[in-house]
Amino acid sequence: MDTFAATLLERPSRLWHSAAMQETQSILQQLTSPEAFIYAFTFVLGLLVGSFLNVCISRLPREEPAEQSIVKPRSHCPKCKTPIAWYDNIPLLSYLLLGGKCRACKTKISVVYPIVELLTGLLFLTSASAFGLTLFAVKWIIFACLMIVLVFTDIIARTLPDQVTLVGLSVAFVFAIFLFLGDGAAETLSLRLFAFPPPAPVLSFVDALFGATFGGGLVWFVGVAYFKVRGRQGMGFGDVKMMAMIGAFLGLKRAFLTILFGSLLGSLLGSLVIITLFSRGWKIDVAERGFRQGLGSVRKLRWTLASRYWLPFGTYLGIAALIVVFWGTPLLDWYLRISGIR
Ligand SMILES: [Zn+2]
Repeated sequence: MDTFAATLLERPSRLWHSAAMQETQSILQQLTSPEAFIYAFTFVLGLLVGSFLNVCISRLPREEPAEQSIVKPRSHCPKCKTPIAWYDNIPLLSYLLLGGKCRACKTKISVVYPIVELLTGLLFLTSASAFGLTLFAVKWIIFACLMIVLVFTDIIARTLPDQVTLVGLSVAFVFAIFLFLGDGAAETLSLRLFAFPPPAPVLSFVDALFGATFGGGLVWFVGVAYFKVRGRQGMGFGDVKMMAMIGAFLGLKRAFLTILFGSLLGSLLGSLVIITLFSRGWKIDVAERGFRQGLGSVRKLRWTLASRYWLPFGTYLGIAALIVVFWGTPLLDWYLRISGIR
């Protein structure tokens, strides 16, 4: 027997397809491993919670307290009022099977519903894979849910309900006591003030307090300054409360990073929204209306457009905060480097 054939017989693993087979087996093993089931379960749980968040998004901004209930009445089509059967209320799947239309009256269902469900599912999955099955994952899942609700109520109804921001703020302080923030601001300060280090829960709570006060405070200050300079309101007190809540969850450094990042996103996405609207024929409509009303200058025209179609600041803050949670450390390193702090 020649040596080549002998090698093949003796060491079958050398064959190219045996390596591929081993690879396939390991993928199969991964897919049927306990972790895979946990991830799948987390994702499905996220989809279900997402469908509950949809109810919050559509009901919390209502003016009447009676209409704000998130348990009653049962979901129904906003157009024909037909109650939605359970089999038409399965997250994501029902939307796809119904082709995005109400079964009874064929009215188009808002694409926001499946987007919120998918987004929640993905954020559940991301939290579970980033933080494992720990309380940290629970904390960031709750944070992600609060952010999703605020991002969408601000887009749809231009409001950030207190039920979300203030409850979120309290939840953040409770989490800070037993899941340490480790922002570093409170520790640095305490080392200058005391000869002994205060206990970790105290430091963490103070970190949350710093984040809430200075995060919310900065947004409040910018809002007041903007009002003084431009004579019109750029952001409301809802943004301040939302930022205080984000600060209490993230701590001081990441709160500032969120504001910086939210403002950058705002100018970037804001311009994109306006360009899209222009390219879709809004130009003619708005220009005609603007000029008929005697708003001659392009600058005024641009302002009219911006104030009406600009996405609200709370939406940008929410997106920025989620980015900071999941990519915070590399972003923070970069930010401290370019700003010369490190
Ligand atoms: Zn209907």
